[in-house]
Amino acid sequence: MADISGTKTIVEASLNALLDDETFLPDLHSATREKAFSSLVSILSTPNHVHKSFLRVPLENGKVVRIPAFRVQHNNIMGPYKGGIRFHEAINEDEVVELSSLMTLKSALHDIPFGGGKGGVVINPRDYETKELHLISKKYVQYFSDILGPEKDIPAPDVGTSAREMDWMMGEYKSIRPGMKYRSSFTGKSVVNGGSLGRREATGKGVYFTFRYLMHDFLNAQHQWLKERDNIFVKTALDHEGRSLTLAIQGFGNVGSVVALEAYKSPHLNNKVVSVSDKNVTLYNSDGIDIPELLKFTTRNNNELPVSEKELKDVDIKADIMDRDDILTLNVDVLFLAALGHQVHKENMEGIKARVIVEGANAPLTTEADDFLSDQGVIIIPDILANAGGVIVSYLEWLQGRDTQFLSEEEVYERLHDKMQETLDVVLPQYFGDAFPLRKNCYIHAVMKLSTVLFRQGKLY
Ligand code: NAD
Repeated sequence: MADISGTKTIVEASLNALLDDETFLPDLHSATREKAFSSLVSILSTPNHVHKSFLRVPLENGKVVRIPAFRVQHNNIMGPYKGGIRFHEAINEDEVVELSSLMTLKSALHDIPFGGGKGGVVINPRDYETKELHLISKKYVQYFSDILGPEKDIPAPDVGTSAREMDWMMGEYKSIRPGMKYRSSFTGKSVVNGGSLGRREATGKGVYFTFRYLMHDFLNAQHQWLKERDNIFVKTALDHEGRSLTLAIQGFGNVGSVVALEAYKSPHLNNKVVSVSDKNVTLYNSDGIDIPELLKFTTRNNNELPVSEKELKDVDIKADIMDRDDILTLNVDVLFLAALGHQVHKENMEGIKARVIVEGANAPLTTEADDFLSDQGVIIIPDILANAGGVIVSYLEWLQGRDTQFLSEEEVYERLHDKMQETLDVVLPQYFGDAFPLRKNCYIHAVMKLSTVLFRQGKLY
């Protein structure tokens, strides 16, 4: 059974907030309006298709195994389905369905002409040899080739997959469907194979941009208007005038390390990265950490932070070494969560001291922690808003593959920031104009857009 209860709650809550808004679906009144709202809940909380296959894979040891694989196509009212393929031993149908629906909402929020999809293959990639992973990737495309394609459904990397798998998959797609605009069949490919410059940095850059746009550009432009609102955010943001905002960043991978470097270099905002962490350790220095030097170290050391005084001394980086989870409860202004989901939960939420939390990872706060911290007045910049840089640059990669015209890295970042700014300029004034948390505002906006297009395309009657 495809469980999509989380999305149903989001859609219902968003529509409830829109019920009395006469500018939303103004052609619909009383009973017709109620019926349309009920139809919307039904449509948006159900996937269009759940495809499931058991890939037949001959292994190197001579045995043949059958590996469960999914492709869920949630909704394509805004454009072709779009979403990653995850290789993970614990993935199941319900989770893929839920993730696909969040892609529908994310693309709608940022006005990207894609729908929502997601794929999964139930394996631990570490248990397989490269040759076998190559075969599994090709088999995935063979089994699902009828439903994939540049105008139908465009996968991307996700947990357990990377540019390598996308290159393999695109290669297989090209063999099966010769002559199609194959470069746009998969995104997140290597640059030499039609991938976009800047894709690796896109999510981290977008996460930092969202934060700095709110704390600098928007704040300066709307200073007077905001001041009159007596909002807790304004107090937090203005409070740091004259001193650096202190930042802690959990996770130092693709997303977290880029956030750290952007913050370190930022010409816009007086901020200071005082702490970073990874799966092993937290580093802390109240005077700020030398991020470029740290990146030189992690690049040479399997993307892992230094774990001993000796390693820190060897590269002349000054920081205290603390336990991995200590980063979460540090006394800082801003906490970026860029590691994994569900990092802040019932057991540790009361220890959080940051007044602003930025979600670089997907769902790093449990619902309980989200509600608790929001009630405490913490400003939470949600994943759907902050970490969309990856899907935005995937869209640029798709366009570049269709046109075989490639953008420079600077052009990619310019378009990425423009796209995120467009969204922020819509949701931020709404957020400060009413009482909803930013996350709810983003959901309302996405549901509003999807509903309007569904209505105009005649899908509600
Ligand atoms: P990554 O694998 O490159 O980095 C993950 C980092 O988190 C590593 O530094 C790792 O050591 C650290 N980590 C792991 N467990 C930890 C723990 N318990 N405590 C502290 N740190 C821990 O992954 P990434 O691409 O940077 O993605 C980070 C998160 O953002 C993931 O949840 C991912 O799903 C999400 N995300 C990524 C993208 C993208 O484009 N890369 C887009 C949207 C969302």
